[in-house]
Amino acid sequence: EAVVLAVDDDPAVLLAVRAVLQPRGVRVDAVTEPERFWEALEASAPDAVLLDVDMPGVNGLELCRVLRNDPRWKSVSVVFLTSRTDPATVQEVFAAGADDFVGKPFVGPELGARIHNRLERVRMQRALAETDALTGVPNRRGSEEVLERFLRLAAEQGDPLAFGVADLDGFKGVNDRFGHAVGDAVLARVARLLQKRFRAEDVVARWGGEEFVVGMYGMDKSDGVQRLAEALEVLREEPFTAPDGTTFRVTCSAGVSEFDTDGRDLQSLYRAADAAMYAAKQAGRDRVLPAGWTPARREGPRSVDVLVVEADPAAARLVQHALETRGLRHEWVEDGERAVSLLTGSAPELQARVVLLNTDLPGVDGLQVLRRMARERMLDCTRVILLGGESQQAEVARAMELSAFDHVPRPFSVPVLLQRIRRALRV
Ligand code: GH3
Ligand code: MG
Ligand code: MG
Repeated sequence: EAVVLAVDDDPAVLLAVRAVLQPRGVRVDAVTEPERFWEALEASAPDAVLLDVDMPGVNGLELCRVLRNDPRWKSVSVVFLTSRTDPATVQEVFAAGADDFVGKPFVGPELGARIHNRLERVRMQRALAETDALTGVPNRRGSEEVLERFLRLAAEQGDPLAFGVADLDGFKGVNDRFGHAVGDAVLARVARLLQKRFRAEDVVARWGGEEFVVGMYGMDKSDGVQRLAEALEVLREEPFTAPDGTTFRVTCSAGVSEFDTDGRDLQSLYRAADAAMYAAKQAGRDRVLPAGWTPARREGPRSVDVLVVEADPAAARLVQHALETRGLRHEWVEDGERAVSLLTGSAPELQARVVLLNTDLPGVDGLQVLRRMARERMLDCTRVILLGGESQQAEVARAMELSAFDHVPRPFSVPVLLQRIRRALRV
């Protein structure tokens, strides 16, 4: 709703102004005592101000000059409504910083049209000021209001809210190698890609040079990590071409925080996500980490999120890359014997939260590994996902009886498998 603050010592004028503007959907706040102008300005926060030149005790031109010098009211439109229409006054009015001038007595449609033009302009300028010119996504200022609203709503409804920060990796190198114009084009494309990957109700904004933020209402930290990881996976496959024909790729690192575990206001959520993003850089870039992520312990047994027991190196590599993108710790062993020796015994070398176990392994097969783990009562703290072929249904049925956590048939799709791993990692 557009708001106009009208100042005139003649109440009849104010009534007439209201009669013209209200039917056009404009709220009119009226002030008849000019000395109350500043107070009214604060309370009404208008888009446009209507001023008279001669008012008892106060000069409208003086008000206009002071208003124009206050950066807070820079974008407010000022229109003079006055019976003094001599050239000298008109000149003075514009010199004082007014945007337009309407003579009294005014004609309703003319005043309406002029105010409408001013309000349109204010709206356009505001949209421009809230949009990042290079990428077309909202800038920090333009996104803050929506993000603040998300926060209020999350607090009221008890809903989660994930907040992500993504920063391009080695972007200075892109500028250095190909020039800033290419760097600019990369930024614009990354912004478009992010906007496309996220839901219309998510907020994607550019907050800094090569830094984007994403606000995801209703998503917890783990959802947020997953969503950003998918975007990172698309980005790293995207080919970019420099004017000289060189093709190159870009990646980014990201961190995700969550309301209200990691913070209750925008600033603390940003700080937590930014710290996680920095940790992602430290850990090797091209990945997303949740706030609160800590690097592996040095002493005691090694610990991983996922142990991949898989004879096929290509399949193992695909899974490992997806795990790495999501900041999950992982190791890979090729056969069952090695898995047993790592995981079991009185002092196991390795602790795993999830074991991804191919049933079809050379030597000690997946089922034997599972049996051994069951015997050592490991299945209470380690969840096993079996990867089994169609031909092994009987084995799989037996394994599920041995309390494997889940089963994914081969050939598997990496996104589906990752979905199941996420579920198994949930405590
Ligand atoms: P890191 O992986 O650690 O983030 O390395 P980096 O090179 O991306 O980070 P660094 O902070 O050293 O450099 C960021 C670069 O981003 C430097 C700056 O010139 C560039 N940059 C920031 N804004 C823009 C922009 O609007 N256009 C272009 N072309 N470059 C930009
Ligand atoms: Mg960077
Ligand atoms: Mg940066």
